Amino acid sequence: AHLDRIDAVDGDLHAFLHVSRDEALTTARDVDTRRAAGEELHPLAGVPVAVKDVVVTEGIPTTAASKILEGWVPPYDATLVEKLRAAGLPILGKTNMDEFAMGSSTENSAFGLTRNPWDRERIPGGSGGGSAAAVGAFEAPLAIGTDTGGSIRQPASVTGTVGVKPTYGSVSRYGLIAMASSLDQAGPVTRTVADAALLHELIAGHDARDSTSLTDPVGAYAAAAGRKDVKGLRIGVIEQLEGEAFAPEVSARFTESLSLLEQAGAEIVRVSCPNFGYTLGAYYLIMPSEASSNLAKFDGMRFGLRVVPEESPTAESVMKATRGQGFGDEVKRRILLGTYALSAGYYDAYYGSAQKVRTLVQRDFASAFEKVDVLASPTAPTVAFRLGEKVDDPLAMYANDIATIPANLAGVPGISLPSGLAEDGLPAGIQFLAPARGDERLYQVGGALE
Ligand code: GLN
Repeated sequence: AHLDRIDAVDGDLHAFLHVSRDEALTTARDVDTRRAAGEELHPLAGVPVAVKDVVVTEGIPTTAASKILEGWVPPYDATLVEKLRAAGLPILGKTNMDEFAMGSSTENSAFGLTRNPWDRERIPGGSGGGSAAAVGAFEAPLAIGTDTGGSIRQPASVTGTVGVKPTYGSVSRYGLIAMASSLDQAGPVTRTVADAALLHELIAGHDARDSTSLTDPVGAYAAAAGRKDVKGLRIGVIEQLEGEAFAPEVSARFTESLSLLEQAGAEIVRVSCPNFGYTLGAYYLIMPSEASSNLAKFDGMRFGLRVVPEESPTAESVMKATRGQGFGDEVKRRILLGTYALSAGYYDAYYGSAQKVRTLVQRDFASAFEKVDVLASPTAPTVAFRLGEKVDDPLAMYANDIATIPANLAGVPGISLPSGLAEDGLPAGIQFLAPARGDERLYQVGGALE
C-alpha cells in the first residue's frame, strides 16, 4: 500500500531519492511467512520505514543528496539500519534532504527539491524534508532522520509530524555520513508520539563502533508515551524563545498547547536561558568547522564521483575538479567558513569562542533543569515558508534554527509535535527539551498532549 502511495504522489512531492521496492516487498513477505509460522516478532516487524539518504544502507545507493556521492552503493549498513533490518522493517527507500544535511528547506539537494504535502508550493523543512514529507503524505508510516541543528524537529514542525532528536550518544552514529560529529544524532520521524517511542527503542543502544555511544540501557519510551499523565510535571517556557522572533499564530498554538498541559495538571513556569542569544552564531562556527574536516574525505579517490581534467591530471587537480563540481554552493560556503574559523590565526577568535558559548549554553540548561522537568518553545519561528523564499539569503535560512540549535550544542534530547494549525491552515509545532538521558520525559509530555 505504501509503495502504491509512493507511485501515486511522489512524482510530484519528490520525498524519495531512491525507492527500494524489491527489497521492501521481499522483507514484507518474509515477515508474513515468519508470522504465519508463529514466530515471535518485534512489534514493528513488517512496518515499512523510509531512511534519510545520509544514513548508509548496504546495497542501496546512498548520496547524502550530493553529486559527489552519486552512484555510490555502500558495502555496509549503519548500526541503526542493521537494527531495522534485523527487526524485519521493510526499507522503502532513501529520502531527500539538503546536501550533506546543510539547510532548513531541502532546497539544497543536488537532485531537486521536495514539496510540502500540505501546500506543494512550500518547503517541507530541512535538512530532513524528505523523511518528514514522506510521513506527512502517508508514503511511509515511519522514517529515520538526523538532527545536527534541528533537521528532524523543524521538518516535523512544518509537516505536522512528530520528530525526536535523542540524547547525544544514545543512537549510534556508526554509518551516518558525518556532518558535525559532536552534534549529529539520528532519530525517528512519525505520525504519532507512540510510534516515535517504538522506533526510538528499536534504534537506540550502546554500539562499540561509535566512540561517543552511551552505555546506558535503552529507556522505556513506549511506556512513557502511554502514561498520559503530567500531574505535577514542571514545564519551563524559555523566555529567550518567545516573542517577536515567532509568528503570532505559531505562538498562539504554543500557548494553547501549554494550557492543555496545565489543565492536565502540569505546572507552567518561565525560565531564563540568558546565553541562548549566542547559539546561532556558535553553531554556525562549530558546525562548519567540523563539517570542513569531515568532508575532506571526499577527494575523488575513495567514493562516488571522480572528475579527471583532460590535461595532465594530477592527484591535486583531480581532487580540485571533483570537489569543484561535486559539491553544491552551500557545502562550499560551509567548507570555506569552517576552514577559515579553524585556521591558525583565527582559531581562538572564532572556533575557540564558539566552544566557550557551548559551555555557557550547557550551564543554562543545567540551571534551568534544576527548576523544571522539561523546557518548551515553539519548534520553528514560522509555518512552512514558500519554495524559493530564502534560497538567496543564507542568514535568513540559518535564523530558522533559533529554537532547535541549543539542544544540539548541549547534547540534550528534544521532541517536536504538532501544536495545531496556524496561518493558511498549515501545521505549527511545539518542542520539548529534557536533560541528557531524560528522553522518557519527552515521551511522557508528548504522549499526554497527543
Ligand atoms: N538547518 C541546520 C543547518 O543547516 C540544521 C541541519 C541539520 O540538523 N542537519 O545546519
